[in-house]
Amino acid sequence: MSWRDNLIKIEPYVAGEQPNKTDFIKLNANENPYPPAPGVLKAIESFNAEGLKKYPDANSRELADAIAQRVGLKRANVFVGNGSDDVLALCFRAFFNSDKPVIYPDITYSFYPVWCDMLRIPYETIPVDEDFNINAADYARENGGVVIANPNAPTSIGRGLDFIREILDNNRDSVVIVDEAYVDFGGESAVPLLNEYENLVVTQTFSKSRSMAGMRIGCAFGNEEIISALYAAKDSYNSYPMDSVAIAAGVASVADEEYFRATVAKVIATRDRLSAALREMGFTLPDSCTNFVFAQHSRYRAKDICEHLKTRDIYVRYFSKARIDDRLRITVGTDEEIDALIRELKAYIV
Ligand code: PMP
Repeated sequence: MSWRDNLIKIEPYVAGEQPNKTDFIKLNANENPYPPAPGVLKAIESFNAEGLKKYPDANSRELADAIAQRVGLKRANVFVGNGSDDVLALCFRAFFNSDKPVIYPDITYSFYPVWCDMLRIPYETIPVDEDFNINAADYARENGGVVIANPNAPTSIGRGLDFIREILDNNRDSVVIVDEAYVDFGGESAVPLLNEYENLVVTQTFSKSRSMAGMRIGCAFGNEEIISALYAAKDSYNSYPMDSVAIAAGVASVADEEYFRATVAKVIATRDRLSAALREMGFTLPDSCTNFVFAQHSRYRAKDICEHLKTRDIYVRYFSKARIDDRLRITVGTDEEIDALIRELKAYIV
């Protein structure tokens, strides 16, 4: 017996590569190419650094209030944390304590199995169909919880509330988490269903539509009992997941609805242009409801395209995983970045 036997044995989540250079086009981590709202930059510039000597507000109430007001909920229905990864990990810890397996699609956010492994939560994956559609009827089975990313990643497919409703109707006795990291780019939010389903939890993030991936802000919405369980989980591992600067910056972001809408609209317009250009080049891809597309070429291997683009200083995401290793996930950048990508692809694909 050695101390090595007691080290964690886990395959960690692998995020999109962050190359150690500056002059390249980064379309591999679903970041927003535009800066955060101007008020965010002002809030950071005018932040009173002296205040850092004190702990932040443990429950980030100012930010929870701002978010609650924007989505039409009470503060008691809102939890904020250090990115939605942190919030989701806490959700798994707080809600999935059954011996029955948690269920989610086989093609979805690849952090879910990692949290299950780390937290020793049993899980089973349910295959999506050949077009990557999730069949809600497949979720009518015994389970210890359900997680659905809607829109889903990396497929980019968004489904309507009828679909979420069907999953909820089939799962009255489990917590159902709907991960809405990409919802602002064309998805339909399940927030209006919160007053109908007491077992529903919706998570969102400031990383994508609010251009604040580097600040780490995520949130969860649910009924008071659900949110209290999240606070209990938080206060059992780190009472202060959000720092004071992040709280101030988050409040400033929520205050600028106009900038938020304009930025999202720009990303959507570029995405639709990118999708059309890819289809013209012989790619097939689902209609995206996110800030990325998921594209397959009939004649070129995704891995080869990815490697080639890298030599041209353009980074896109390739997953060497069964069922999706023939596709590329391409984040929507600025118009100039996407023009450069289209140029390189046109030169490569003959
Ligand atoms: N959910 C999904 C489906 C995602 O793709 C991501 C981004 N990797 C997240 C949650 C987490 O994002 P963040 O921690 O930046 O809020």
